[in-house]
Amino acid sequence: MTPRKIQRTPVKTAHLVTLLQLIHREPGISKPEMCNRTGLMPSTVHGAVARLLEEKLVVCQGMAASSGGRRASQYRLAEDIGCVGSVSIRLNHLEAGVFDLSLKPIAREEIPLSMEAIGPETYTGHAVRLLEGCLARAGLAREKLLGIGVTLPGPVDHRTGVVQQLCSAPKWQQFPIAERLKQSMGCPVVVDKDVYAVLELLAQTGEIHNPRCSAYLSICEGIGSAMMINGQVYRGGHSLAGEIGHVTVRKDGIPCPCGNTGCLELYCSDIGIVQQYNAQGSAKQTTVRQVLELAQNGDEAASRVLSQAISYLVDTTSTIIMTYDPQELVIFCTWLRSRRELFFWLLDALYAKSIFTQKHSVQIRLLEETPLNLNAAAALAVRQALEEAIVNPS
Ligand SMILES: [Zn+2]
Repeated sequence: MTPRKIQRTPVKTAHLVTLLQLIHREPGISKPEMCNRTGLMPSTVHGAVARLLEEKLVVCQGMAASSGGRRASQYRLAEDIGCVGSVSIRLNHLEAGVFDLSLKPIAREEIPLSMEAIGPETYTGHAVRLLEGCLARAGLAREKLLGIGVTLPGPVDHRTGVVQQLCSAPKWQQFPIAERLKQSMGCPVVVDKDVYAVLELLAQTGEIHNPRCSAYLSICEGIGSAMMINGQVYRGGHSLAGEIGHVTVRKDGIPCPCGNTGCLELYCSDIGIVQQYNAQGSAKQTTVRQVLELAQNGDEAASRVLSQAISYLVDTTSTIIMTYDPQELVIFCTWLRSRRELFFWLLDALYAKSIFTQKHSVQIRLLEETPLNLNAAAALAVRQALEEAIVNPS
């Protein structure tokens, strides 16, 4: 029983993270300036800053020059407050990093690594090696890690950190990755599906403008989506919500490792496009970029595969709009990004599809080409570290 906990003013962790990032970006910022930048109420900023001071995450560095009224205190991040680890697991790619609490990367390392080819225990060992490499390069002791965030390309029980159904990597089923990493690194670990974590990061950094109802569609090795409703990511009953990559788009389609046939990601993901081309074209290709180049150089099979992908994505985006009526749909897709005319083709076909998907009914835009998974995993760890600080103050 700690009376200190009861006396505390409730402060939303999201507000703490937002203000921490702002104070990092603008050292010397005052509370009135924080209100202006964030739109938060003065009482909310006051309570959050008090909490950050109490937890020794932030310090007062002096007083602002007077503009006629009372001089305002200025704040900056405390030195040496620790950092978080971040692990992004994708089907054929592992990335790890160390970030400060304002989500600024300190060090990062990446290697190509197949989840399916390598068992989860060995794979986690590689993640630990990369994390230790990042800490060494940054000159940080392991004790400085306040926590580790992990993103995975499929459903995971985010409360326990146990992997659920990963149909492209069945060896990972029921693997307790949070527990394994915690044992190896000696700090708390939080795990979530990558699309959920990225959507939360987009909302936190203000890149989603309408958190009341926004959608995120990720098209890379596989395809996943996430919905934010009233500021919360919607997970469904089993963190399956948004598994749109495994919705049938072709009744007579090819079998999918998930057990279904004709799934969307077999035709539109980076891997799916390459496999579709190799099933039709004469020369074997290994990357979606190669298929794009072939199409640009007049290869009919490559153009056919991309045309088919756009057609299925028009139906998919239409389904998202008709099911959830989002104000905003943000898409991550490197091949739509590098060939913008394909994206505009998708938009025109979507607008023409029905009166409900006409232009301006929903804001649709593409994200930059750099994946946000590693930053999103770091944001998970920062949120958990702050929650720990609030629940278990030092
Ligand atoms: Zn499937």
